[in-house]
Amino acid sequence: MLGKSVSCDAYHEKRPLRVVTHAHADHTGGLRWSLRECEKVLMTEPTRDLIEVLEGTLGPRAKHIETLEYEKPFKYNGERVTLFKAEHILGAAQVLVENEEGDRMVWTGDFKLDGTPVLNCDTLVVEATYGSPMCRRSFNVDIKKLLVSMVEERLKDGAVYIFGYHGKLQEVMQILHDADVTVPFVMPEKVYHISKVSERHGMKLGCLTPSTEKEARTLLGENLPCVAFYHMNSRGSVGLDATRICVSGWEFRSPCRRIGEKEHVVALSDHSDFNGLIEYVRQASPKQVITDNHGGGHGETLAKEISKRLGIPAVAMPSRINS
Ligand SMILES: [Zn+2]
Repeated sequence: MLGKSVSCDAYHEKRPLRVVTHAHADHTGGLRWSLRECEKVLMTEPTRDLIEVLEGTLGPRAKHIETLEYEKPFKYNGERVTLFKAEHILGAAQVLVENEEGDRMVWTGDFKLDGTPVLNCDTLVVEATYGSPMCRRSFNVDIKKLLVSMVEERLKDGAVYIFGYHGKLQEVMQILHDADVTVPFVMPEKVYHISKVSERHGMKLGCLTPSTEKEARTLLGENLPCVAFYHMNSRGSVGLDATRICVSGWEFRSPCRRIGEKEHVVALSDHSDFNGLIEYVRQASPKQVITDNHGGGHGETLAKEISKRLGIPAVAMPSRINS
């Protein structure tokens, strides 16, 4: 909750404004309640379009959605709500609320420091996915280049399956497309529609083919050179005998690790590691910090580390608030 009126990434019955920072499911909880009860639900246009693919059509209540461009304030009851870019997935935003006294309150949402503007503020609520000093990726390797060379090498033996979360799969398509990997990209319906939304909003992803089409079935069935993109949840059910690469942020020891005969994990993350989180807080220079504690992150640890290293008062958000 920021200021008097805003709740972020959750429904609150006493808050007339709801912000959705991005389309990942752990940030859209209670969205249908918010659409029914709130005066406005604020998000970027790409986030709205992604949510409509991921969660199905929002129906007539979608009229309560107000899409905002980055850095264009929305005024409500003496406060200003402004979304700023967060480098995470397409459409992701940080939220700044400014009150009449000039206090600045920020929720970072999920972000990776590189590409995310740091917002100077009085109160900072910061994500804490990798908020423990154990979660540092200090590799001296260009992960994107590594990924491209792995895929190119393995394409010589036929199809390569990539497993990742929504948003990151499209990032991988863009990385491969930028590196002139021109084989067909095959994907199930949902990933295809998310990719199409991503292209509509400016991403360049290559030659996309739904896995239901005959051409795609032939490519995969005959193990011809192509890249197949599947959600992490499909890892146990598709491409079991194929060459497989999982892209995951939960890798700290090495940029690439072999986990099966033909399977590797590559440490491509959409979140800041511990050093990135601390650096954001240092640059934002807030008077107080609240660390997010949802989804098995490291809110408590990060709060302690911020107090210790930066001398800024910091507490972890209670995991559930009953008021
Ligand atoms: Zn996310």
